[in-house]
Amino acid sequence: HGRSKVDYEELRQLLLDTPDSKKAEEWQRYYTAGPHLAGKNYSQALWTKEKWEEFGVKSHIVDYEVYINYPIEHRLALLEKEGKKDDSTSDNWKVSFEATLEEDILDEDPSTSLPERVPVFHGYSASGNVTAPVVYVNYGTYQDFDDLLKANVSLSGKIAIARYGLIFRGLKLKRAQELGMVGVILYSDPGDDGEMTEEKGHAPYPEGPARQPSSVQRGSMQFLSIAPGDPTTPGYPSKPGVPRAPVDGAIPSIPSIPISYAEAVPILKALNGHGPKASDFNKWWTRRTGLGYKGVDYNIGPTPDDVVVNLYNQQEYVTTPLWNVIGVINGTIPDEVIVVGNHRDAWIAGGAGDPNSGSAVLNEVIRSFGEALRLGWKPLRTIVFASWDGEEYGLLGSTEWVEEYLPWLSHANVAYLNIDVGVRGKVFSASAAPLLNSIIYAATAAVESPDHPGHSILEKNWDKKISTMGSGSDFTAFQDFAGIPSLDVGFNAGEDDPVYHYHSNYDSFYWMKTYGDPGFVYHRTMAQIFGLLIAELVDLPVLAFSAESYATALDKYVSQVEDKLDSALHPPKEINISALTEQEISNLRGNHFNSTANAVASSTSSNKKAALAFRDSLKRLHDSVGKLTEKAARLDAEAEDLRSQAREHIPWYHWHQKLKLWFQIRKVNTKYKYIERNFLFSEGLDGRPWFKHVVFAPGLWTGYSGAVFPGLVESIDARDWTNAERWVDIIDACVGNAARKL
Ligand code: GLU
Ligand code: CA
Ligand code: ZN
Ligand code: ZN
Repeated sequence: HGRSKVDYEELRQLLLDTPDSKKAEEWQRYYTAGPHLAGKNYSQALWTKEKWEEFGVKSHIVDYEVYINYPIEHRLALLEKEGKKDDSTSDNWKVSFEATLEEDILDEDPSTSLPERVPVFHGYSASGNVTAPVVYVNYGTYQDFDDLLKANVSLSGKIAIARYGLIFRGLKLKRAQELGMVGVILYSDPGDDGEMTEEKGHAPYPEGPARQPSSVQRGSMQFLSIAPGDPTTPGYPSKPGVPRAPVDGAIPSIPSIPISYAEAVPILKALNGHGPKASDFNKWWTRRTGLGYKGVDYNIGPTPDDVVVNLYNQQEYVTTPLWNVIGVINGTIPDEVIVVGNHRDAWIAGGAGDPNSGSAVLNEVIRSFGEALRLGWKPLRTIVFASWDGEEYGLLGSTEWVEEYLPWLSHANVAYLNIDVGVRGKVFSASAAPLLNSIIYAATAAVESPDHPGHSILEKNWDKKISTMGSGSDFTAFQDFAGIPSLDVGFNAGEDDPVYHYHSNYDSFYWMKTYGDPGFVYHRTMAQIFGLLIAELVDLPVLAFSAESYATALDKYVSQVEDKLDSALHPPKEINISALTEQEISNLRGNHFNSTANAVASSTSSNKKAALAFRDSLKRLHDSVGKLTEKAARLDAEAEDLRSQAREHIPWYHWHQKLKLWFQIRKVNTKYKYIERNFLFSEGLDGRPWFKHVVFAPGLWTGYSGAVFPGLVESIDARDWTNAERWVDIIDACVGNAARKL
């Protein structure tokens, strides 16, 4: 490595000095002005490739052919029967409300009138034309539907109206469909926007930071927690000419449409006076409801048979090309590769937050590494940069790429670093595989907080919590399918930050410049953090992994399973909602743990006995994780020792000593590289074989939020003690293998 003209400290300095707010703004201006939808963004793929080459990074386009939908036509209307209630012959339906299904055009914000703007629709939505009474289903979580079942609210044959939030939207529809509902309407309730609402005195966008009342969240309706990627090629790449699996069951079969809160109000008001009130149910149903001031009583319904909704949705399904841009900086070690990615496609013409803040950051990072190359930097490891396409439909570009290059990635990929929405506020947030925890603390400690000169991001912008990997972005195939330790970072919006208009036309350049990140300083800051994260992995002779963090985390996860078991035996007392984080609420409500059948089953004495017996099996996991912890600590200590040896100057005539050190480092790095792979189980999780990781997966009914030991936890949820024992064996074998190989 002696040939590099840029040493590690100089590289870090370059990565801190090069990113520029003005440049980030320039990239934002470009990306927010053009067509973004998967299959329609070739010009942006080409531009990205050319930019990266200009920065000095050899790049190419990798294409796939994927099965996706585009919107053709739609309608949403409220119909009421005229004439006397008991007049069964009356056939006079009157349209009492016709939704525009349009977001307002704003003079201040040119994105809202771009010719490329996309109608409101859902990815992987089913075509259909249904007319039926409507039921308000709260967030549409598993528990919300369970509450409705318990109260005998009629669901079959009805259309659901649900608010966005807590869980991945496609899973709301999945449950509605399973319960025989015929359509789904999703809207954004301003109550879920925190402090920044019109009701609380803030002007809506563009005059102020509150939600624009006509804003609509588009988004994918795929069943993300079952399998991401092209639904016609599960587990293999969507190359032209490959056989295609039937999609039945893998994507929705009932139609759905997203709407604004302005257009939800008439439908919700039609529910007033019908069926129980949300406040009669439980506190989960009145949490953050925000349309009371508009006259919405939040009745559950259903509406009577003479008050119905017509939902018409026409989609065109095509198999169409999709373009990933892949840039490569070759390192001197051929089989230690760091992959770094961000998606380029968006639901809307603008997309300043999602994904272009991440794309602008990635460009600044690549430009910085290009600067280093120009100064004679010779990287130790290879960096692969990716601009993914088709993320929005269901992580298509990244999943197909991982499926194609799996053998090489399994062998050579050390880590995957993801950035999706890089900036939508000022609160740093991270999720990661525990092996990578330490580099996140190190990078955030070295970058200055824009609002607190002299202080770091770690000190001022972060609660220092790292969440487990769930899903909802392009790290999923790396982490859960290929067993490659991954991380995902971004600046989130806090409760007092301006409302971020996710997947709406108002996620625009004008919003970003006026409210999200005036001056683009958080873009620059994120580029500095992301650059340092990459540098830590690429250019330190001994990999900056922490094996002990992983072992410690595993032990904590086993304890979490024990807690879960205990709460199954002794159902929890009152839960204080306000003390819980969004993620905790998501996990609680997006779970079939307390569902009626299970609650009854777990109260039987034989079940209690079985659960108690099973508790002993978990001790076995603590034991094997304990052994892994010892070995992990030893490996980390050895790594630390090698790090200090590597820092010492060894004269050239002691080449044999140098060589010996290098072989020792190689051995330690190889151990680090493969730790995560031990946790793959080739048969996959029950009912979702694409997901191979036994420690991390998206929650079955949460999607975004991660589950730990998913196979085990789902068996406990189902009170299937035989299968739970089987999962203890599987996990035990993985932990044992990992320990042996350390
Ligand atoms: N990030 C996108 C979303 O949350 C895509 C998620 C997916 O479908 O996998 O809507
Ligand atoms: Ca595939
Ligand atoms: Zn995104
Ligand atoms: Zn998105």
